[in-house]
Amino acid sequence: MFNLSRYFSTVSFILVVLAAGVLGPLYQKLSMQQLQDLAEGRNIAMAQVFKNTLHDSLDAVMDDTVGRDAEFLSQSDESRRLHASVLDLMRDTAVIRVKLYNRLGNTVFSTDAGQVGESRLDNPGFRTAMSGGIASELTRRDTVDSFEGVLAQVDILATYIPIRSADQSITGVFELYQNVTPFVSHLQRNMWLVTGGVALVFGMLYLMQFLVVRRAQGILEEQEGHIAAARDTLEIQVAARTDELKRTNTQLEAEIAERRQAQSKLNYLAYHDPLTGLANRRSFIERLEQNLRESAAEGERLAVLFIDLDQFKQVNDSLGHGVGDELLVAVAARLSDRVGLIDMLARLGGDEFICLMEAVRDKDEVEMLAREIIAAFDDPFVLGDHELFLSAAVGVSLSPGDGDSVLDLMRNADTAMYRAKALGRGNFHFYTPEMTRDAQERIRMENLLRRALDNGELSVHLQPQVETSTGQLVGAEALVRWNSPELGLVMPMRFIPLAEDSGLIVGLGNWVLRETCRQVMQWRASGFDLPQVSVNLSVKQLERPEFVEVLSEILDETGMDAASLKLELTESVVMAVGDAFSLLERVRDLGISLALDDFGTGYSSLSYLKMLPVQQLKIDKSFVDGIGKNPGDEAIIRTVMALACSLDFEVVAEGVETIEQSDFLAALGCQQLQGHLHGKAVAPQEFRARWSALP
Ligand code: C2E
Ligand code: MG
Ligand code: MG
Repeated sequence: MFNLSRYFSTVSFILVVLAAGVLGPLYQKLSMQQLQDLAEGRNIAMAQVFKNTLHDSLDAVMDDTVGRDAEFLSQSDESRRLHASVLDLMRDTAVIRVKLYNRLGNTVFSTDAGQVGESRLDNPGFRTAMSGGIASELTRRDTVDSFEGVLAQVDILATYIPIRSADQSITGVFELYQNVTPFVSHLQRNMWLVTGGVALVFGMLYLMQFLVVRRAQGILEEQEGHIAAARDTLEIQVAARTDELKRTNTQLEAEIAERRQAQSKLNYLAYHDPLTGLANRRSFIERLEQNLRESAAEGERLAVLFIDLDQFKQVNDSLGHGVGDELLVAVAARLSDRVGLIDMLARLGGDEFICLMEAVRDKDEVEMLAREIIAAFDDPFVLGDHELFLSAAVGVSLSPGDGDSVLDLMRNADTAMYRAKALGRGNFHFYTPEMTRDAQERIRMENLLRRALDNGELSVHLQPQVETSTGQLVGAEALVRWNSPELGLVMPMRFIPLAEDSGLIVGLGNWVLRETCRQVMQWRASGFDLPQVSVNLSVKQLERPEFVEVLSEILDETGMDAASLKLELTESVVMAVGDAFSLLERVRDLGISLALDDFGTGYSSLSYLKMLPVQQLKIDKSFVDGIGKNPGDEAIIRTVMALACSLDFEVVAEGVETIEQSDFLAALGCQQLQGHLHGKAVAPQEFRARWSALP
């Protein structure tokens, strides 16, 4: 790491040394130069003094000396006089020696007499002076002879100065030796002082700066410590955050995967029936929508086939929903496997399936598909211990023709399916517009029926039941009638199924029960005693959990005795209600008797029949109609009679219109008869008028 203190101390030390190394010698050089200039100036002044004072003597010496030998020169009078004069002038000055040269470089005079006669011609100082300049030289001598004696360790400045005559020509040269030792030693002392002072200042400066820098370095290091600590903390935080992010990331990825899975499951569920895995309603609608657009563009036809199972509800109610679900799965698999002509099969819900046939060539092809669907139910479905015989009703709508929209096509196929169902088990039917009119009529009728009860438009008619052997009145069947202001007299065959589908039957059925009991009790009070009265019961009434309570309430309310009341149920009603046995036992326990209506048209097994708490069987009119015409019907009647005899049931024959029928039934031991032969269903007043007159 960069060390500010070390860097600073090294660099500034070098700079201080450099400054000292440069400044010291420079100062010395400048001082010496100054000293030399001063001393030189003094020598020049002295030379001028000598020249001015010794003017004549000088000239004489110079003139005499030319061409004279040394000895002469030193011994001449003139020289001696000069010597004395010079010494006088030199006293108390710093000049310690004076020499005089003539033009030829010969020493013509010297305060040191021994030097007279020496030649200085080659001396550079002499030459400079001879050419008009002044030359000085500073030297240090160990010993030097002065006119005052020998001097030791002296600094001497020797200056060569030209001597000029009046016409300014140079006639000779002075050489003056000046003792500058005190100046030089003073200068050197100053040098030391200055150097010491500078060193001290530099040193203090250096020290102060060093302290400042060291403090700065300390602060920097402290800051760096903080930064390092902060960086470490940051790194830890970053690492922790990175970890956290990684974790969150994996968590997120897991969540995304989960969500994707859930999404695809949702997508699957959105378009599939979870039970059978078939396409669902939405899926079918979207496909049909697309196909409708395409087929319209290409001028193709397509068919929608609505499939409804005939006995699914019974299976579901009697064997449980588990078996019901299994059956639906089996039906879906059967249809998918066996019906090759289907382009798309979907389950709409419950026991309703729907399929699509694309690129329909003709109606025959669709009919073939409908038959194929119905034929798929020929074999029984085996689920565990159960072997179930089912059949399906198929309704068909075609595009174009039976509707332009998906909704129309599906609704019309549904309508056609209802018509197929009405035809009996395992049938199909193509849609016709008249079916829609019927359906609309049904809706209108349903709305009218809703009001009928409150408006008092319903009434109960009674049809007599007589003893076969005596023709005596033993009872009557209560049959509801609807006198609608809009529709006129409506027979129950038209509105009872409607009431059952819409749920209106519960209120309607209870009303008939109450009204019948009330009527019978009113008759009794007024002296007309009807031994027993039969009231028809719908499956919807029986299914109500409060049914038995309502029943006993009606008995209480009207004061009707239970023994005089009989309830008629069809085989299918008994089959459809889950716990029919216990329910009917509770009814019987109230003292009410039970009759099985329309017997022979259903599919009750013998064992089942045996267990039912029923006292009476009512042979259906369709078999009675066959008496004398259809041996098959006669055979059935015989069988029913034999069965009833062995199981100890009382038998009533319905729809007896002729004597022949009456005789046939009487011969087989049928106990009671009901039919137009003995009387139609009529209003209570008429009924009383007809039957009270008899003994
Ligand atoms: P159901 O219970 O089998 O009633 C017998 C039907 O046969 C009655 O028709 C009756 O008028 C008719 N009938 C009886 N003898 C003869 C005959 O000799 N010749 C002819 N051609 N017909 C005969 P209705 O009154 O039209 O009732 C039809 C069905 O409506 C009944 O069949 C019954 O299932 C149902 N129904 C009538 N009233 C009620 C009711 O109050 N509640 C319920 N749940 N259903 C009812
Ligand atoms: Mg009946
Ligand atoms: Mg009947």
